[in-house]
Amino acid sequence: MQPKDMTKNEAFKGFTNTSCPFLPCHKGVQREFNCLFCYCPLIAYECPGPYEVFTDKNGVTRKDCSACTLPHDGYHQSWNFVQRWLEYPVPWSGNPQTEPPTRRPKPHGDDDLEG
Ligand code: SF4
Repeated sequence: MQPKDMTKNEAFKGFTNTSCPFLPCHKGVQREFNCLFCYCPLIAYECPGPYEVFTDKNGVTRKDCSACTLPHDGYHQSWNFVQRWLEYPVPWSGNPQTEPPTRRPKPHGDDDLEG
């Protein structure tokens, strides 16, 4: 097996499950539909996506990500998006998305958020 940073084969960055009965599960995807992040790695973290907030039957506050295409729009683009946002993950506050959307966390200081 090649180390990930040495291979020219980038197939690990995404795929489309054309057999899935729910495809396309998010409207508005313009590039290859990336199914790799079917369960978005940012679900428990702050993110820039256009999510809605709801309370499930157990009383837990959750994100409804139906309108978000960020982890699905293009194999390379969605891979890079998720990697960048997981560099300094900040646990989700449970609050609704802001306008403008949450900025990408940076490593130092209290005002360490960047777009
Ligand atoms: S809103 Fe988008 S980026 Fe944020 S957790 Fe949901 S799917 Fe992921």
